[in-house]
This record gives sequence, structure tokens and C-alpha cells, in this order.
Amino acid sequence: MLDARLDPAGNGAKPLVSIIDVRKTYVMGHGPSGGLFRRRGPSQTVTVHALRGVSVDFYPGEYVAIMGASGSGKSTMLNLLGCLDRPSSGQYFLGDRDVARLDDDELSDVRSRYLGFIFQSYNLIQQYTVLENIQLPLTYQGHGELSPEAVERSIELAGMVGLGDRLDHRPTQLSGGQQQRVAIARSLINDPYIILADEATGNLDTKTSYEIMDMLERLNDAGKTIIMVTHEDDIAEHAKRVIRMRDGLIVSDGPSPRRRILAHARAAEKAAAAVES
Ligand code: ADP
Ligand code: MG
Repeated sequence: MLDARLDPAGNGAKPLVSIIDVRKTYVMGHGPSGGLFRRRGPSQTVTVHALRGVSVDFYPGEYVAIMGASGSGKSTMLNLLGCLDRPSSGQYFLGDRDVARLDDDELSDVRSRYLGFIFQSYNLIQQYTVLENIQLPLTYQGHGELSPEAVERSIELAGMVGLGDRLDHRPTQLSGGQQQRVAIARSLINDPYIILADEATGNLDTKTSYEIMDMLERLNDAGKTIIMVTHEDDIAEHAKRVIRMRDGLIVSDGPSPRRRILAHARAAEKAAAAVES
């Protein structure tokens, strides 16, 4: 039996992503042979257990916030989910594929096909225009000359995020919110299944943050699975499910309470409007 909490549609859908007993250990320093920590004496390595055995499933169409204090392992988890890094042990299934076993080329192929990323610092290329930044994941795939369809799609996405009249601008000519919107358009260029966002609103003021969250919400309404990391409660409230981490472990996982209240309020508003008209 599938857990209804984790299968919000209740239709027995299979998980899009499953991670099973995933651990991630960072070892810093180079031991007796010297290196960065040489002056601290022999075998001075520092081991950080960033993830200490995490198992979790994500289903198609979910909108999940991963919360927790700084250092609790949120970014490590998101980077593993995004195939930007590999677990030290454990399994990671994306659909039916055991991603943990893929080689580097296969991993970057999975990454560009199925996953879109949004980061706190936008990670745009400063020398590139808005349009070139949006097209970047296609260029990484080594397509050489972009097809007319690809160019058209990138222009369409720029319009969708409200930057249709800024195609030739460079990141320095844009506000933070506009830069993050370029990053959102870029994350969508390959029509990914999952959008991963790490503190996407961390550098933005409240109003701009809410605009970005609205955009993510609309993408989720259109069927995209969204997994975002945030340490801000009011940002997490936009999600449908909230996972809390502490010291490299998941300590709670369930529906976002505020989201239910908002849904009720919206339904009531709609009903009232229907009565008035
Ligand atoms: P969060 O995103 O919740 O703030 P992180 O996942 O970034 O937490 O970090 C979890 C732990 O792993 C922290 O103790 C952090 O210092 C450590 N860590 C993260 N990345 C690295 C790295 N590349 N090398 C060594 N330690 C790391
Ligand atoms: Mg982090």
C-alpha cells in the first residue's frame, strides 16, 4: 500500500524519485601525505557526515520544501537529488534508473534531460545575454548551432517569465528578481520533470520573493515537480509538503498545514465570486 500522504493524487502513482538509506560523508584534509592541512600534523583529516541515512520518495507533481537549520544537510540532499553530486552510499532511483550507478557522462545526460536548477545566486553567466543564458543547457549538450525550434522556445520562455523585452540585456543590467526569472526560464529549457531550487529567494526582498514563489506555484500547477530548499517558514508555506532535516537526517515529513488553509480560502473566494456574478 502506498502511503496516501506521499501520494497526494491517491492514484497509486510510482515515485518519480526514490532515495534509500543515502549517506554523504565529506573528508577534508589529505592525511599524512600533506596537502591543505599539512601544517596540522599527520592524518589530520576532518570527516563530516552531511547525510546520515536518508530515505524518501517524491511523486510526480509534488511541491516539496526541505527545511532545516544551516548545516543540516539540505543542500547536500538537493545536490544529490540533482545529480550534481554522488552519495557515499545508498541508492538513488530516478524513475526505474539506478542513478547512483551511472558514469559521469550518463549522469550529466540525466541531469540535463530531467532536472532543472535554480540557485540562490542565480548562477548566470555575466558575459551572456538573457537569451544566451536561457539557452545555456542546450549549449552544454553540445548541439552546436541551435535549431530554430530551440531558439523559438528560449524566446517563448523569456516571455513567459516577463523578460520578452530584455532578450539582449546582460545580468548586470537586471534586478535580482529578473535575474532569478532568467534562471527559471533556463531551468525549463529542456522541459525537465523536476525543478530543484536551493534558497531561490534567499537574496530577494519579500515582494520579489513572492513573485518568484508565484511563478514556481504556477509551474507546479502545470505539472512540474518542485523540490525546494529554504529555511524561511513563509517560503515553505507555498509548498504542499514539508520535510524537515536536522544533523543529516529527516526528522519530519508531511503536508504543509498552511497550504490546506490557503486552498480552503481560495475555494471560498471562488464560491463567493460565483454567487456574486
Ligand atoms: P545546509 O544546506 O542545510 O546548510 P549543507 O548540506 O550545505 O547544509 O551542509 C551539511 C554539512 O556538510 C555541513 O556541516 C557542511 O559544513 C558540510 N559540507 C557541505 N558541503 C561540503 C563540502 N563540499 N566539503 C566539506 N563539507 C561540506
Ligand atoms: Mg544550503
